Amino acid sequence: MKQILTLLIGFFVLLSCNNDQNHQTEGEIFSKNNSKKQETFGIVIHGGAGTILKKNMTDSLETAYLEKLKEAIKTGHIILSNGGTSLEAVTATINVMEDSPLFNAGKGAVFTHEETNELDASIMDGATLNAGAVSGVKHIKNPIDLALSIMNDSPHVMLSGEGAEEFAREQGFEMTDPSYFYTEKRFQSLQKIKEREMREQYKNLSFEDPFIKDSKFGTVGCVALDKNGNLAGGTSTGGMTNKRWNRIGDAPIIGAGTYANNKTCAVSSTGWGEYFIRAMVAHDISAMMEYKGISLQEAAKIVIQEKVPDLGGDGGIVAIDKDGNIAMEFNTAGMYRAHMNAKGELIVKIYKNE
Ligand code: ASP
Repeated sequence: MKQILTLLIGFFVLLSCNNDQNHQTEGEIFSKNNSKKQETFGIVIHGGAGTILKKNMTDSLETAYLEKLKEAIKTGHIILSNGGTSLEAVTATINVMEDSPLFNAGKGAVFTHEETNELDASIMDGATLNAGAVSGVKHIKNPIDLALSIMNDSPHVMLSGEGAEEFAREQGFEMTDPSYFYTEKRFQSLQKIKEREMREQYKNLSFEDPFIKDSKFGTVGCVALDKNGNLAGGTSTGGMTNKRWNRIGDAPIIGAGTYANNKTCAVSSTGWGEYFIRAMVAHDISAMMEYKGISLQEAAKIVIQEKVPDLGGDGGIVAIDKDGNIAMEFNTAGMYRAHMNAKGELIVKIYKNE
């Protein structure tokens, strides 16, 4: 009898241990996405890639870029360190760059052939794989906010043009007068390109002329990992100077300009959109991590240093993985970029080999 009792007690002790274990495992899985905060978080941004050479930059312009990049990344970092979500951090960080005339997004958007500004943006949530994207809007001050609203408040992923603006109005977005997007520098860039086009009279000039090739400078993007282990990415742009026919680049295309997946990484692209669409840059990096089991840095290098240039394109990406590892890979002379980790360490750079 005593033996049976001991056996029974032993059995119940074992059972309760097992239950504890199960409970703990479930708890851990649950808390990863919900309550338990992790120590690792981080944020990476870009403000465009291209032929950015120190010899072409004045000291004051360089300082202005560095300061704005710092302001933007610190905005997101504060949100993350206070326990905010990666989506909140990405949106607020991109807003800072959209509001600056320095970048080809929001306020500083480049001009179309018709001398208008058509804005594109996209955002993706790595936890749910929800995404929102917008293209060709002309009256939206912060297109990344509209992309977020499309993700959260509409049954669709991507809206364009007038329909997107109608949705924006319904959601209470203010319609910004197009004159807000006028900047003398961008307008003059358009005039130069048009003059050259007239003079040299050949089509597809943008594919050959280095000045025109770089007319897409300054797209902005942000990726972040928050304390809940959730990744998010976003990208916002005015596209390419002198674009026509409602041209859409990679920035608003999920998988090309933006991608985020908690299993792998979050990516935001900048560069020659036509090639980034064909190479599905952002998703390809994530897919290589998932299917090949390679690191973020390795995947980013293959896509940016081999696949995109092999097609004839150029540009770069910023990315962060689920463990907080980052990549800031580009094949151009420079890329405006910055990174901040959980310790608050800050890196801000413009040129290659810095
Ligand atoms: N990728 C953008 C586009 O092609 C331009 C850029 O990144 O600067 O629209």
